[in-house]
Amino acid sequence: MTVLHNLEQIKQNIAEACKRAGRNPNEVNIIAVTKYVSVERAKEAIDAGVQHLGENRDQGLHAKQEVITDPVNWHFIGSLQTRKVKSVIHDIDYLHSLDRLSLAEEVQKRASDTVKCFIQVNVAEEQSKHGLSLDEVIPFIESLHDFSHIQIVGLMTMAPHTDDQALLRHCFHTLKQLQKDVQALQLAYAPCTELSMGMSNDYEIAVEEGATYIRLGTTLVGNEI
Ligand SMILES: *Cc1c(COP(=O)(O)O)cnc(C)c1O
Repeated sequence: MTVLHNLEQIKQNIAEACKRAGRNPNEVNIIAVTKYVSVERAKEAIDAGVQHLGENRDQGLHAKQEVITDPVNWHFIGSLQTRKVKSVIHDIDYLHSLDRLSLAEEVQKRASDTVKCFIQVNVAEEQSKHGLSLDEVIPFIESLHDFSHIQIVGLMTMAPHTDDQALLRHCFHTLKQLQKDVQALQLAYAPCTELSMGMSNDYEIAVEEGATYIRLGTTLVGNEI
């Protein structure tokens, strides 16, 4: 399938999910996760109208950026090793995986401008996943008040790999509640207006529960590797 074909179907699904939830579809941004696919396929996504690309490794990011010069937003969606910060921090628009103080310290040290960060939250407390637990998030955000290069634009989660719709919904709903708690702090450096949640298998539920960035690989561009 062409990316354009997939994108049109996805947009329709988003519109329907928004209708069910009383949301405006313009609030939902689609990130094409291109980590599995070629640069040609990533370009096809841009030609189809996608404005956000997501990569989870520095090599993948740089391989795409060598060829793609269009004015797209680059999202780093994978866990980031502290020693890799300096190689990517000037090349990305959003970091989705801020999950520890040592990483924040390195971002603060290496960045020259404010970096838009999502805090990665392990809502379901899965052993295999990165991210802070729910009750660690607010103390962590409070600890960042002197980090002039870090802006907390939102929260990010990866839901469990399951078909249990109720569990998925609970996971997304819980992140939305936490977002409200963060917003209530009214911290200038943590507006936390965004929610990065929803992947190929679960994005419609995520949209119903308030996602503003959905990260789509398989269903949008495929997973040819
Ligand atoms: C790979 C990846 C995705 C995309 O996964 P699909 O299920 O193929 O849509 C989204 N988010 C993160 C963090 C990923 O690593």
